[in-house]
Amino acid sequence: MGVTDPARPALDFSKVRAVYFDLDDTLCAYWDASKLGLRTAFDTHPVPGQSSEDMVRHWAAAFRDFAPYLKQTGWYEGYLISGQPTRIEQMRLTLLEAGVDDPDHAERLSEAYMVSRDLALALFPDALDLLEYLKPKYPLGMITNGPADIQRQEVETLHLTDYFKHIFIEGEVGEGKPLASVFERARAAMDCQPHEILYVGNSYDHDIAPAIQAGWRTVWVRRESDVPPSADLENPPRHKDAPEGAPQPDLVIGELSELLPLL
Ligand SMILES: [Mg+2]
Repeated sequence: MGVTDPARPALDFSKVRAVYFDLDDTLCAYWDASKLGLRTAFDTHPVPGQSSEDMVRHWAAAFRDFAPYLKQTGWYEGYLISGQPTRIEQMRLTLLEAGVDDPDHAERLSEAYMVSRDLALALFPDALDLLEYLKPKYPLGMITNGPADIQRQEVETLHLTDYFKHIFIEGEVGEGKPLASVFERARAAMDCQPHEILYVGNSYDHDIAPAIQAGWRTVWVRRESDVPPSADLENPPRHKDAPEGAPQPDLVIGELSELLPLL
């Protein structure tokens, strides 16, 4: 399935000289691992009177409030280095949602969640085939948001280091997507013109819109599984559409394997 913006020349894959990927929910199933990690943490360290499903909903409610606030406050500096302090705070807020004020329990839950999530983290089934195919043909890069420790751990857990010539992690470079400077740094590292770079990502706001803005060609990966934990069973979060009238990616795919015959 392809969607083309009539205002731009059609994407000519023979002009592509470098390929950048986002990591979470583009190459690996982050939200699936997160949901499994949360359920395991709440099963292992239960909260009296609350099922694990109840606690995941409380976590989602706390996350909805805390996540946007994180980057605008003093939490951000520490978050870039390590995911631990904000993960513990997120669990403390989750317990408060459940009416429990227990910072020690928040620490236990945070640790259990981090370990279980990492164990559950896996590449999408077709990701490795695609990377194996692309590696000898193009220099590959990764641009991923998140703390330095967590994102490096993910790259190692998934054995991805050797596939990528350049890996830009928000926590390591000190700023993240969707900032234009992040994309310019990545372009300069490849020594390519913007239109020679293909970017593959799952988030319209963090991947697709800023890559289009930078003049790159874009592939938007949209999968049904790509939704965060839900705070509301009646109205679960949905995969976000591009805003009305916003620039469209060169291509929309449901699976990474759709790129194999094109590149
Ligand atoms: Mg992503």
